[in-house]
Amino acid sequence: MRALLPDLVVNRVQDIDLTRLYRQGIRGLLIDLDNTLVPWDRASIGPDVAQWLQSVQSQGFSVCFVSNGMPERVAKFSADVGIPAVGRAVKPRKTPFRRALKLLGLTSDQCAVIGDQLFTDVLGGNRMGMLTVLINPLSEKELRSTRVVRRLEKRMLRRLIRQGFLSEASVEHRWKGRNGR
Ligand SMILES: [Mg+2]
Repeated sequence: MRALLPDLVVNRVQDIDLTRLYRQGIRGLLIDLDNTLVPWDRASIGPDVAQWLQSVQSQGFSVCFVSNGMPERVAKFSADVGIPAVGRAVKPRKTPFRRALKLLGLTSDQCAVIGDQLFTDVLGGNRMGMLTVLINPLSEKELRSTRVVRRLEKRMLRRLIRQGFLSEASVEHRWKGRNGR
């Protein structure tokens, strides 16, 4: 259970308190792409997210995308915004995160993992001993396989709430308009 518990839960990446992370010693952000920075069915990063990525870097953070997505798609995003990426990452395995750490020249205690999925992003980050941030998925459109995982994910989040590890309010946005998924 604890392995699935995120350190922080926010609605969107823009809601992350970066000053606080920096004060905690975080210098690197390993960020998921699909439904974290880009809606799953979109081919490019929106201007607001691109701007956020810029400001994150100007605040002293190094960024690396870590995505289970297709390498071509990941490479395109990477080139568009000039941020390194690890594609076809098979999160929650440790290998892609280790590759990202190497790319950034940072250690796991200096990095936070940011993503929209409990069983890939949060579990993977926790396995690495990194700070984990769960955000609400940008789009309801997803791969069929992801939709199955979402149901399980919801059950796990409910259990974490029942056990007092998470507040109902923190995941509230996640349930909204998602038709009881
Ligand atoms: Mg994702």
